[in-house]
Amino acid sequence: MKYIFGPVPSRRLGLSLGVDILPKKNCNMDCIYCEIGRGKGHVNKRDFYTDEEEILKELEDFLRNEKRAIDCVTITASGEPTLHKGLKSIIEGAKSISKKPVVVLTNASLSWIDEVREALSLCDLVLPSLDTANEKTFRKINRPHPEIKLERIIDGLIELRRKMKGEMWLECLFVRGINDTHEEIQALKEAISRINPHKIQLNTVVRPPSEDFSHPVSKRRLFEIKEILGNRAEVIVDFEKKMEEGSEIILESEIVDTIKRRPLTMKDIRTIFGRFKRSQGVLENLLAKGIIKKNKVNGKSFFVAT
Ligand code: SF4
Repeated sequence: MKYIFGPVPSRRLGLSLGVDILPKKNCNMDCIYCEIGRGKGHVNKRDFYTDEEEILKELEDFLRNEKRAIDCVTITASGEPTLHKGLKSIIEGAKSISKKPVVVLTNASLSWIDEVREALSLCDLVLPSLDTANEKTFRKINRPHPEIKLERIIDGLIELRRKMKGEMWLECLFVRGINDTHEEIQALKEAISRINPHKIQLNTVVRPPSEDFSHPVSKRRLFEIKEILGNRAEVIVDFEKKMEEGSEIILESEIVDTIKRRPLTMKDIRTIFGRFKRSQGVLENLLAKGIIKKNKVNGKSFFVAT
């Protein structure tokens, strides 16, 4: 599979079928907590990076043969999906192929562009990120391309929320000592009240980050922040849903494709790929061949691509 990966268990979406529409890693930010790792430098030019028809054909073929009960189709990227100029036709195509909700994950950096808002407003659900309302902190935590300005992002999100018929769930990720102070949270609260998202989802560093100095905030602090942000805020909890143990053959490439896009714990792998014994054998082979390795972050083991 070139574009489709998963379905993967998502703490927010249930069992989500991923559609990765950009080559790795094309992003206009370089977040200190990024789980894809360090990029090759900022990419901030919108372009047709991949072929929309090829993506939609792969999605259609995959869904035709898929037996697992997926909860949504999530358009994402090993980078920022709104950099793809064909995003609107990819969303429209995915909606006509799949009966499940179509979701887009975005860092919101290009939400000030009319064409991007028009595309995103077609989705059933948009999950934009906003970690801070302070330009200086934004530069520190998200390390954006120099042309990206936080105020424009916030204005773009306000406009998008007004325009969209589906829902907007804003994700705020907190890094200890960087965007978790009282002043930061108050400023963020003010910006969020202007955006008016349907939900505010609070997260912290849970997967191997691109920078060692990117540390999670405590569970207690996350719940304190939730109290400050009000009743639309929720702390994202671990995904618990179990897939039926299917009889599908576990292919090495299927596991590798998923790990390349997102570091996974053994629990994730069991949930996605079914029977533990089978997936464990494949993992052992991949470890022995040096295709994947184990990384420990905050006491939790993750399988990552080498
Ligand atoms: S916006 Fe997403 S893909 Fe881009 S650097 Fe940040 S976390 Fe990584």
